[in-house]
Formats: sequence, C-alpha cells, structure tokens
Amino acid sequence: MTDAAAFAPIPFIDLGAQRRRLGAAVDEAILKVVNHGAYIMGPEVFALEKALTGFCGAKHAVSCSSGTDALALILMAKGVKPGDAVLCPAFTFAATAEVVAWLGASPVFVDVDAQTFNIDRASLVQGLATAKAAGLNPVGVIAVDLFGQAADYDAVEPFCAENGLWLLDDAAQSFGGSYKGRKIGTIGMATATSFFPAKPLGCYGDGGAVFTDDDGLADIIRSLRIHGQNNEDKYDNQRIGMTGRMDTIQAAVLIEKLKIFDDEIAARNVVAARYNEALASLVDVPRVADGLVSVWAQYTIRLRGRDRTAFAAKLKAQGVPTAIYYPRPLHQQTAYRHYPVAGNGLPVSDRLAGDVISLPMHPYLDAALQDRVVESVRAALA
Ligand SMILES: *Cc1c(COP(=O)(O)O)cnc(C)c1O
Repeated sequence: MTDAAAFAPIPFIDLGAQRRRLGAAVDEAILKVVNHGAYIMGPEVFALEKALTGFCGAKHAVSCSSGTDALALILMAKGVKPGDAVLCPAFTFAATAEVVAWLGASPVFVDVDAQTFNIDRASLVQGLATAKAAGLNPVGVIAVDLFGQAADYDAVEPFCAENGLWLLDDAAQSFGGSYKGRKIGTIGMATATSFFPAKPLGCYGDGGAVFTDDDGLADIIRSLRIHGQNNEDKYDNQRIGMTGRMDTIQAAVLIEKLKIFDDEIAARNVVAARYNEALASLVDVPRVADGLVSVWAQYTIRLRGRDRTAFAAKLKAQGVPTAIYYPRPLHQQTAYRHYPVAGNGLPVSDRLAGDVISLPMHPYLDAALQDRVVESVRAALA
C-alpha cells in the first residue's frame, strides 16, 4: 500500500464500488425508461413488484414513494385516527413515529433491548398500560428491525395477538433479512421498507414498498398511493390518498440491484463477522440472535463510558468516518417530547443514545480497508 492509499478517506458506504460492479446494466435500464416515456406507473413498476414478491415471499408488494410513505399508507389504510395510540420504540429514526402523528394519533414510546437495540417486550406491556391510562385507544405496534436485525417477533407477535393489536414491521433497515426462516416482508399484518440510497437495497432517489398477504389491505394501499382512486374507475376517487407512487426510473434501478442483493447480503455478513472477531475484546460488538439473518444496515458498537467525541475525532484523523444512530431517542426530541412514554422513562434508549457509534459498513469493504478501520479503533482506544 502506498502512503496515499493508507490515508485516503474510507467511504462510510461505497455506492461507487457497487456502480462499478453493476456496469452498464443500471444505466441501460434507466435509458430504456427515458426512451419509452412511461415515467409514472410504467411497466418496470409492476415488474419490480413481481420481483419483490418473488424475493421475499409476501403475497403483495406495493411500491411507493419512500419508506415513510410506506408506513403512512399502511396506517391510512387501517384508518388510524385521533385518539388512537400506536406503540413504537423510541430508539429509531423519526419516520417511525412521525407517520402516527401525521394522522393525529399518538405514538407511545417504548424502550428497547440493550443487546439487540430492538423493542423490549416488558416495555411493550408498560406502554400499553400507559396508553390506556392516558385515555387513548391502543390499536397497533410498529416494531422496528434496527440496523438490519429483525425484532424479537416470538415475543412481539403473541403480545399483539393477546391484546388485539395489529403488528406493522418497519423494515426500512432490514429488508432482505430473515427471522427464524421467515423472510422480512412476511411478518405481521404488513411490512414497510425503504429504498433510500443508503439502505441495504437502495435506489437512486427516494422509494419504498409495502408488503402484505392481505388482499383487501393491498387493494386499499394501491388506491391510496394514487390519491385514493378507484382501482377500476380512476375518475371516482373513493378515499383521501396521496401522491405515493414510485417513479418508473427508480423501479428500473431496483430491478437491476435486486439481482445482486443476495450476494451483497452475504458479503455484508462476512464484513460483520470480521469486525466482530477483531473488535469483540475491545468494545461491545453487535450480536445477532440465533436463527436470524441481519442485512447489517449499520455496524454499531457501544463505547460504554468512553469519550465518543474524542473516539470519532481520532478515527476521522485516520480517514475513517463514523456516524451516530441515534444521538437522541425520539422521546427526547422537540417534536415528540409531549407524547407518552412507557413506565417511568426509557433508560436503555437514553443510555444507547449516549454510547453507540457506527463504523463503515457496506458489501465492498475489503479486508485491507477493514484492517485500517480496526487498527484505527484499536489505536483510538489504547
Ligand atoms: C430510513 C428509515 C425510514 C424512512 O425511510 P425513507 O425512505 O427515508 O422515508 C423509516 N424507518 C426507519 C427505521 C428508517 O431507517
């Protein structure tokens, strides 16, 4: 390695490497759409939906404009309204709770497990009590599969069934993974995912999808994404919907990227295993529960009391970028502070926000580059 290579900054996510691998395929797919001109609801949109159902095994895939809109479309289809409560974790991206608030309903924040970063069953029980005590009508749970690993569905599913709540999987970070042999996209009433460029399966702009086995729900969502139009008579809008479609060009990009996605997931798991082996003795490394396949949307370690700002600065000086997902849990943010939280607060979410940090993670992080990251982590902790 030359000195220049030794200090060249490492990308946090290397979409350029993926583009080189894909070669002309994506460019040609885009050009095809540009030439055929069906920019909205063109043939690639339906071809993508078919490919997605084939990939994950869900009966329906409904593509849409973003992961946030995928969540919103599901809540709209369920008729979520003011007075309703939806339980969701506080340690997540804002969109998870934002869509609940859009509809005038109340997110009720619950805590997460310190090992998996995902929703904690005991806190769900407390959150349900909190919602009822606040005079709200609990209708459902949005479980998030944070950083690419599925939530604890063996605990969450019976909780929902026992309490008459629907289960929505926010799989924006986990599409492509699986839970004990069940593919993400087939768990709960419905699943929402995101194709934002930095997600494990990303397009070249905004995009998302809803998955469900429920024919009626899929029909309503197909209508809602086009202003609530009647799927048979488009001049009779049946309900209040939105501009929720995926652009044909984005669908064309995703069709090409889906072809290499399984291989990329395998590569992500190789990278994660190398990190775990090299770093387990130095920091708290992420653990995937038995029987689960993570897609490693993030590789997130915990620094347990060490100075995170100084740690990040030392890595940056070596050309190693880091990111913090998430420095503030939702119940501590201005727009969400007034919503109820389970129990007497969410101590695990608060603690994680103070000591997590994510390292570069993508399928094209080769062993030499990864060694540089590991060496920088080791030096920063020494
Ligand atoms: C990215 C993300 C979303 C939102 O997806 P967009 O496509 O950016 O709208 C929702 N939930 C989680 C957990 C996410 O990480």
